[in-house]
Amino acid sequence: MRIDLHTHSTRSDGTETPSELVNSAKGVGLDVVALTDHDATEGWDEAQQAADEVGIRLIRGIEISTQFGGSSVHLLGYEFDPTHQPLVEELRRVLGGRTQRLPRLLDKLAEHGMPLTEQEVLAVAGDAAAWGRPHVADAMIAKGYIKDRDEAFRDWLVPGKPAYVGRYSADLFEAVRLVCAAGGRPVIAHAWARDSRTGITAEVLTELAAIGLAGIEVDHPDHDADDRAALAAIADDLDLAKTGSSDYHGTGKGPAFHLGANTTHPDELERLLG
Ligand code: AMP
Ligand code: FE
Ligand code: FE
Ligand code: ZN
Repeated sequence: MRIDLHTHSTRSDGTETPSELVNSAKGVGLDVVALTDHDATEGWDEAQQAADEVGIRLIRGIEISTQFGGSSVHLLGYEFDPTHQPLVEELRRVLGGRTQRLPRLLDKLAEHGMPLTEQEVLAVAGDAAAWGRPHVADAMIAKGYIKDRDEAFRDWLVPGKPAYVGRYSADLFEAVRLVCAAGGRPVIAHAWARDSRTGITAEVLTELAAIGLAGIEVDHPDHDADDRAALAAIADDLDLAKTGSSDYHGTGKGPAFHLGANTTHPDELERLLG
């Protein structure tokens, strides 16, 4: 039984539609795949239909943009009610923050000789419900300003670089409570990758577990062997599920993030979802 609990479609910043993604999952021999687009559940229905057709199990999920202590933290949520009003309203605020950021970000790129229109970014974002910096990167590539998404993230779009603009994100603790209130299971994503490395200590994870955190994404391409061992020990201590996943974005991220790059043990999925 092969289970991958973290993937993205074109409804956020992946490059495969929800049904293409499910077909790819079937193609690489996965039995269970979770669709976890950034801040959006719009891909669920299409993915479910494809999963029914090809005969694999879909877990309906999301990856919520949150912040803790001034750093960005991603929170996975699984099998919650997508119509739960308080959660819907918070997701609307997060998506609004993405929209509000765009004009300021484009002003900064123009100041650096890389003019782009909102239409050009929205055109490459296609049917995304949550557009993001990867789409800005794609529009920059289309204009010939840069070579690939990596270059955009290395030189332009991250904190400390010339075209970085912050945006609204949910409070981490509040987001954990909202996923629980909506009947779902929150799991901290790539806890020690990128920004969140310093903030998400064992103490913070203990506090999160006390308010309903259900799991820790232990096996992720951005975690090295030491990170994985330490996070697994914390999860065991706190009796949290240990998940493993690829964080697949189609061709939007490197080969390390291929579908099934990391997987979740069936017992851990059982512990997570019951
Ligand atoms: P945003 O949604 O605008 O905050 O942009 C963050 C997204 O960019 C995350 O979903 C990451 O998956 C993606 N990302 C970060 N670094 C890179 C990179 N070097 N190449 C492609 N995507 C990236
Ligand atoms: Fe992403
Ligand atoms: Fe993430
Ligand atoms: Zn992700």
